[in-house]
Amino acid sequence: NRQWILRRRPEGEIRQGDLELVETVTPELKDGEVLVRNLYLSLDPTHRIWMSDRDQYMPPVEVGEVMRGGVIGVVEQSRSADLPEGTIVNPGLGGWQDYGVVTEGHARRTPRLAGVPLTAHMSVLGATGLTAYFGLMDIGKPQAGETVVVSAAAGAVGSIVGQLAKLKGCRVIGIAGGPKKCRWLTEELGFDGAIDYRSEDVGEALSRLAPNGVDINFENVGGKVMDAVIGHMNNFSRMPLCGMISSYNAEGPVPGPSDFGRVLMHRILIKGFIVIDYLPRFAEGMAELAPLVAGGQLKWKAHVVDGLENAVDALGRLFTGDHEGKLLVRISPE
Ligand code: NDP
Repeated sequence: NRQWILRRRPEGEIRQGDLELVETVTPELKDGEVLVRNLYLSLDPTHRIWMSDRDQYMPPVEVGEVMRGGVIGVVEQSRSADLPEGTIVNPGLGGWQDYGVVTEGHARRTPRLAGVPLTAHMSVLGATGLTAYFGLMDIGKPQAGETVVVSAAAGAVGSIVGQLAKLKGCRVIGIAGGPKKCRWLTEELGFDGAIDYRSEDVGEALSRLAPNGVDINFENVGGKVMDAVIGHMNNFSRMPLCGMISSYNAEGPVPGPSDFGRVLMHRILIKGFIVIDYLPRFAEGMAELAPLVAGGQLKWKAHVVDGLENAVDALGRLFTGDHEGKLLVRISPE
């Protein structure tokens, strides 16, 4: 059983030696436990936060512990009548490892849906889709005709946010890195406009693409991109603060909006949220998302990197943008 162990807290970008892949023996099962062979590992920007000891929304991974991460797997040995061998399960937060021991009651069965690959449960029909859904609907509260801006728009969460906002009748502008991602947004996902923040001035582009201002800013990036969008937000606009990926590799605090007074003058609602806050409402979110996926109204992509041994290198792609859609590691074949 290979496991990635956090050896030291990264400073800045993750470096060789911050994590180590070790071989361990899988423990004997007790009654009520199952051995899960992990199939896919979700790689998430928040893994970088969990590796640090900054103030955060749940305890960090301790040095010496197996790195934490969302997985989906198949029961390979069972001492539980509820979870027989062959059951596909989602233990929620598992580890960066080949196998995990899971106690019954701590793993959700994942049904194989016709025409829906398992990877969907790690993306649009998993925490990614639910993050987009609850952040947009519960905090953004989109109304038809409003203008919605989303950053990291071609990413896993952002691409779903924009499509859900289009389904609500909004005008949607995505901010993403590079012409290829921007084309995907406008030509395939139906966004009304896209801004390449690497080559364009975001503020100037917004003046052109959102002449009536911004009613919802679904914020995934923080920093300069966020600052430019806040400068265009309307009276009583809303900003679901989902992520600030531009600062996850930073050491120490980063500057906030340059003109925080705008929040007062324009009565802007800024609300941070974490998808687990919505755990009691996950079934409601899934009931909304599943038919949209089945009906082809929500498009999504998974970027699957093969091999647990490549997990650390692959995580870096989230910070360079060198991936298309939800970043996953295939740990073992289905
Ligand atoms: P993505 O698939 O969006 O991948 C991250 C993307 O962020 C990259 O592809 C890159 O896109 C962009 N990016 C990285 N660094 C920068 C930077 N310095 N400036 C601008 N853009 C950058 O990942 P997710 O969809 O999983 O996550 C998106 C955001 O949502 C993250 O901030 C994450 O922490 C947050 N999140 C929050 C959750 C919550 O519960 N609150 C749950 C899940 C995610 P590009 O090529 O366009 O630059």
